[in-house]
Amino acid sequence: MPELPDVTLYVERLAPLVIGETLQGVRLASPFLLRSVEPPLAAAAGRRVTAVRRLGKRIVLALEGGLFLVLHLMVAGRLRWRPAGAVIPGRHGLGAFDFDSGTLLLTEASSKKRASLLLVQGEAALAALDPGGLEVLDADLPSFRAALVRESHTLKRTLTDPAIFSGIGNAYSDEILHRARLSPFKRSTDLDGEETERLFAATRDTLVEWLERLRHDTEAFPEKVTAFRPEMAVHGRFGLPCPRCGAPVQRIVYAENEANYCAACQTGGRLLADRALSRLLKADWPRTLVQLEERQRKQRRGAGAAGAAGGAGADAGVAAGAVAAGAAADAASPAGPGTRSIPAAAAPSAARPARRGRRAGSSRPGSR
Ligand SMILES: [Zn+2]
Repeated sequence: MPELPDVTLYVERLAPLVIGETLQGVRLASPFLLRSVEPPLAAAAGRRVTAVRRLGKRIVLALEGGLFLVLHLMVAGRLRWRPAGAVIPGRHGLGAFDFDSGTLLLTEASSKKRASLLLVQGEAALAALDPGGLEVLDADLPSFRAALVRESHTLKRTLTDPAIFSGIGNAYSDEILHRARLSPFKRSTDLDGEETERLFAATRDTLVEWLERLRHDTEAFPEKVTAFRPEMAVHGRFGLPCPRCGAPVQRIVYAENEANYCAACQTGGRLLADRALSRLLKADWPRTLVQLEERQRKQRRGAGAAGAAGGAGADAGVAAGAVAAGAAADAASPAGPGTRSIPAAAAPSAARPARRGRRAGSSRPGSR
């Protein structure tokens, strides 16, 4: 999902193209894109753009007359700048914003159409869409600390909660925690003063560094926005060497999310498990890198730990754990066929119903 650095770059590059231009109209290719009813979308046509802003992970086009078009790209939504009147691409196209100077296309390369567009009237209605998270780049250490400890969650969840911190998602939270050398699953309220300072600095430095890198690497309008970049330390780099210590990057998959981390740098060598997964694999689950290596040695000698996860597919209640089990089995690779094949095969079918149910329960449009 485009996060603060990517969304900021979109805003910076879009602004000179559309500010002062008149929005001729909005074409919708998908009826699901528009999530607001009043004012009608037609009310946006014929108005000049007065500003382009970022609101959390959303992009806002401010129109004269106090109207705001609010775009949330979610995971796979992307923007393209094309010559005026450009055709909306058939497969992934969601809509087009037409200006005399060009057309802003919105695409979503995913079967799950989650990107959203809202048209709202007035600053108060716009402010109501703000999840309220702290803008870390504008914040000082005391306000960062206050946001961090307001609720007790894992650091991974705290950093990515848009009501606590603004604009940080799965990718940059992995990078921030690696830079801070903190476990993704440490409680936000358990940090000492030095750790809090380290996390604050890592958060700012990661976001600033990436914004500068994206500005430098992107010549015109951003066309290659992705959450996976080769320069990242751990995000999307499962199994590859940690750039700090060389140990393989680990991964845990939970719900719709995943955390990538270096056990040596961030968790004192411990491999992380969620509770369902721990129950599932019990003694079979390697707790430390040393145990993992021991297990791999045993498996190479033909004494694999097959069968420990045999019930995974039968119990929908541990579906999220089963997904993690797939990842865990991968994490234990190159493991023997015993541990690897069972959870990996059980995970996708067992996981799907539970994940769908979870999503259905959190259907607030564009809430993240
Ligand atoms: Zn490391």
